Amino acid sequence: MDDESVKAEALQIIGMFKVLPKLVVFDLDYTLWPFYCDCLSKREQPSLFPHANGILYALKDKGIDLAIASRSPTSDIANTFIDKLGIKSMFVTQEIFASWTHKTDHFQRIHSSTGVPFTSMLFFDDEDRNIVTVSKMGVSSILVDNGVNLEALRQGLTTYAHNVNKIEDNKKKWTYYTQNSTSFERTG
Ligand SMILES: [Mg+2]
Repeated sequence: MDDESVKAEALQIIGMFKVLPKLVVFDLDYTLWPFYCDCLSKREQPSLFPHANGILYALKDKGIDLAIASRSPTSDIANTFIDKLGIKSMFVTQEIFASWTHKTDHFQRIHSSTGVPFTSMLFFDDEDRNIVTVSKMGVSSILVDNGVNLEALRQGLTTYAHNVNKIEDNKKKWTYYTQNSTSFERTG
């Protein structure tokens, strides 16, 4: 499947959803590309997972912002590869630094620089511990096991829509509860 066909299919998938994230955040190693970049030399020519490019362009086309959150200890190599792949301008922000936390500090920085609430973000990563900590912050987080692909995109958008509906439901319940308890106090 070439980039254009992936992009067309990704656009179709995105078009099926009424609620969409404002910002989609990607890990690098084994999420966007199939290697650990700290094991490679800057001189090498990297390539992305087969569906990654088409998905990035489709999201961008739909007006969704993109960002990177990577714990790679070699941000210089990661940046060189992002440049070589011609995708640097796709991202509104890139947080690439080693850290003992499982990306909670990456997401704090992304939130500070973009102003996007955690509950309006969707995140793809191949490490379970990152998924666990970041989803606790309110970010819809998807574990990928063979890099980001069309199936992961569909799963991500489904999970995001489900989480947003859950928040809306809770708001409605809370409004109902507070209104009813107020009228109860008044009449009582
Ligand atoms: Mg990774």
